[in-house]
Amino acid sequence: MKKRRGILIVLSSPSGGGKTTIYRAILERHPSYKYSVSATTRPMRNGEVDGIDYHFLTDEEFLRKIDAGEFVEWAFVHGYRYGTLKSTVNDALSSGEVLLFDLDVQGADAMQKAFPDDVVNIFILPPSREELRRRLTARKTDQPDVINLRLRNAENEVKKAVNYDYIVINDDLETAISQVDAIITAELCRPAMQLPIEGWNLK
Ligand code: ADP
Ligand code: 5GP
Repeated sequence: MKKRRGILIVLSSPSGGGKTTIYRAILERHPSYKYSVSATTRPMRNGEVDGIDYHFLTDEEFLRKIDAGEFVEWAFVHGYRYGTLKSTVNDALSSGEVLLFDLDVQGADAMQKAFPDDVVNIFILPPSREELRRRLTARKTDQPDVINLRLRNAENEVKKAVNYDYIVINDDLETAISQVDAIITAELCRPAMQLPIEGWNLK
């Protein structure tokens, strides 16, 4: 039987909006779903693992991959380079996978343009600026000047939310996770994701 094509689920939000927390919870609920590991030049944070959270590259290594045309998209985000590898996306599409992405607004836009029939993009919106600052501070992964930069960038990022397929407000975490889960489930029920259906001669 012909295999279903994969689907690309792109999560975006301001830094601290909850993308990492939400995609990890979804992957726990659905072990068959995969995560698109991006490349970055940002230094590794405590607890991060090379090849699992990101492919951590030097500037030279990243530039070589740009020259070799290995990225679908890449962008400067908060001062470092981040990019999605073509090989990750193409492998997922051809093997029918549900592939989750954690991308900034530029990456989401580029992915939508590169794969208009395959991308579903979801904006994770924090409940307020004050709560976003509180979460970024409580996460303890960034210095106060970095947090301030991320909060300033958040103002422009949030303006893009209306262009997404869905907005999920991440106030209560369990509700937000269930909403993202429900969106993916509904997208998998679209006819284009199910055809051909054996036994019913539907093409
Ligand atoms: P992002 O990946 O978008 O930068 P994270 O997933 O790291 O964001 O979340 C930022 C911080 O906020 C983390 O410490 C996380 O545990 C916390 N957090 C995420 N969602 C919620 C929520 N709904 N309520 C309270 N804290 C949350
Ligand atoms: P962090 O440094 O907090 O892990 O991520 C910073 C920002 O980079 C987040 O908004 C995240 O979505 C974004 N990001 C991560 N990987 C990629 C990528 O491959 N491409 C783009 N454009 N943004 C990315």
